[in-house]
Amino acid sequence: MKTVGIIGGGPAGSACALTLARGGARVLLFEREPDREKPCGGGLTARAFRALPELARLDLPWAEAREFHLVGPTGRRACLTLDPPIRIVSRRILDRALRRLAEQAGAQIIPEHVADLARAAGGGWEANGRSVDVLVGAGGMNDPLARLQNVVLTRDERATAVGRFVRGNFAPCIVVRFFPDQRGYAWWFPRPDHASLGIELAGEHFDKELAWKLLRQFAAEDLPGVDITNGEDYGWSGPAVTRWDARVFGGPDWLLVGDAAGLADVTTGEGISYALASGKLAAECILCDDVGGYPARLHESLVPELAKSARLHPKLYRGWVLRLSILALTRSRTWRTINAETAHGFQSYLTLKRRVYRALPRVIGEVIIGT
Ligand SMILES: Cc1cc2nc3c(=O)[nH]c(=O)nc-3n(C[C@H](O)[C@H](O)[C@H](O)COP(=O)(O)OP(=O)(O)OC[C@H]3O[C@@H](n4cnc5c(N)ncnc54)[C@H](O)[C@@H]3O)c2cc1C
Repeated sequence: MKTVGIIGGGPAGSACALTLARGGARVLLFEREPDREKPCGGGLTARAFRALPELARLDLPWAEAREFHLVGPTGRRACLTLDPPIRIVSRRILDRALRRLAEQAGAQIIPEHVADLARAAGGGWEANGRSVDVLVGAGGMNDPLARLQNVVLTRDERATAVGRFVRGNFAPCIVVRFFPDQRGYAWWFPRPDHASLGIELAGEHFDKELAWKLLRQFAAEDLPGVDITNGEDYGWSGPAVTRWDARVFGGPDWLLVGDAAGLADVTTGEGISYALASGKLAAECILCDDVGGYPARLHESLVPELAKSARLHPKLYRGWVLRLSILALTRSRTWRTINAETAHGFQSYLTLKRRVYRALPRVIGEVIIGT
């Protein structure tokens, strides 16, 4: 029986551990901070539930957001209705529940920071003195295996975020705000007893002062009645990979999954669904003795969508595109449907352009008459 070591018990590591343990592998899942509230919106789209159907059966205290407000660079506000709703959950709670699922399936959770990583003399790996045949890097942005293999994301492959967990009970309505001349957005994701307020801006030179200024402007103008002073600040970075051809996802006895592999949507910042999907895919490759086939299978399944998003990203963030799009959202039912389906992943980026062109006459008509 193969022993697999997994560094990191986030969504990617836990999905991998769960699938492996169910498939009969011996699994050691290392997690250094089991109780941490991760800096994340915690928004779960339909794509995440498709990636790991077990999510729907977890009885978690999530907020169900059926309303999604988008505020354009000029302050114009549009409202999407989400069906199904986006579920928003604390990452401390979600990650703990996913690790518990993996544990129930037979994975061993080891609450340790993996600092000691080396190739074993007779093949395989030593992780904190434990021998494993295959190693999975699921440690997020600073994964130690990615570092060891020299494939950690560079500065220009990261987007930086700052924000605050604001204490209180808030209406379950997501608000997102775009700003002139900035690629990125500010968000308000309310959860049952607090909300995640944040802003992520792409680009090599993240200006923290500017980010906080925009965030305060967002709170003052777009979150009426919300007191954001009561909370805890965070700062973090997420993947913003735009070139996928040369990315390394693994070797003959190691693999990278989730953020450690750069697998997040550069346009929306969504990463949980890709973490779950890549964790499962890695496990399937290990179980059928095809570790070396993992990169090719990623390139067939998840990468085309992410690569298309990366190509669309600069175009979608052009000022006039954002302004027109928000205007169309306020007036066209068809445009709202296309956007809501794209947010959930029902509409792929790969066929988005074709659908938009086909829908354009109807959207223009609806903008003129208002629907
Ligand atoms: C501000 C922000 C907001 C976001 N909002 C959303 C959102 O609303 N919806 C969405 O889908 N995505 C969102 N994302 C993206 C999402 O958070 C990530 O894509 C997702 O968490 C990736 O999961 P992962 O398992 O790959 O990594 P992580 O969630 O980062 O998990 C890695 C785990 O590895 C552990 N670890 C790291 N190093 C070691 C070590 N050496 N030894 C032991 N353990 C280790 C860490 O403690 C951590 O638990 C957001 C990201 C950011 C930065």
